[in-house]
Amino acid sequence: MRVSDPLFNLQELDIRVDDMRARALLMATQKRDLLALIAELESAAKTAEDNKKAAQVIAHKHETEIQNLETKIQSFGDKMLRVTSPKQIQALESEKLAAEEKLASTEESLLETYGQVEECDKKLDELRKNVDSSKERLTTLKQDSTREIMEIKEKIGRELSQRQELVSQVDASLLKMYTALRAEFRGPVVFAVDEDGCQGCGETLSGSSFLRLRNPDRKPFACDNCGRLLVFSGRIE
Ligand SMILES: [Zn+2]
Repeated sequence: MRVSDPLFNLQELDIRVDDMRARALLMATQKRDLLALIAELESAAKTAEDNKKAAQVIAHKHETEIQNLETKIQSFGDKMLRVTSPKQIQALESEKLAAEEKLASTEESLLETYGQVEECDKKLDELRKNVDSSKERLTTLKQDSTREIMEIKEKIGRELSQRQELVSQVDASLLKMYTALRAEFRGPVVFAVDEDGCQGCGETLSGSSFLRLRNPDRKPFACDNCGRLLVFSGRIE
């Protein structure tokens, strides 16, 4: 057994635990993101609903105005019969013309408002479908992740109880270095190398460092550049 074997085993275990924790975190993040998306969609749906209601109120005003204008325009026939002077006739005619123009423009506005209501409906429909599908996704995610997170917790528990045993096998000063490196770097901090390059930082080791690395006991050696631990795995003549 190499001096470094328990350390490599410890690192493998720690990386497995890291990966499981990252997986659990990812699921929690996905849930949180999905919840935020649903809230966003629901708020957009509320806005669309409010816009629709506002457009409906405007449409109703236009409809009432159109009715009033139509009644007014119809009443001009009777009024015409009651006046005799050309001046009065002219005044009524221009009044009627103004009412007809107003009617035409109000009808146009009404059509435009109906268009807005329709657009709000379309948007609402799309948003509600999105809310529904997002909620379905959330339900599935919750079910799946609850089960998986429980499994992960159990696995992590088992790994951590094994970890204590491994830790007791690692040389105390190495363990101290390893712990400090783990706090500093993500991913592996101990590498088996058969060349004069550090797999952590990519730096080429100096001749004397490489010579020390190729010690017959294959003791771990800290990289000059990044401090990660290297263990020589090549042939030693
Ligand atoms: Zn390095």
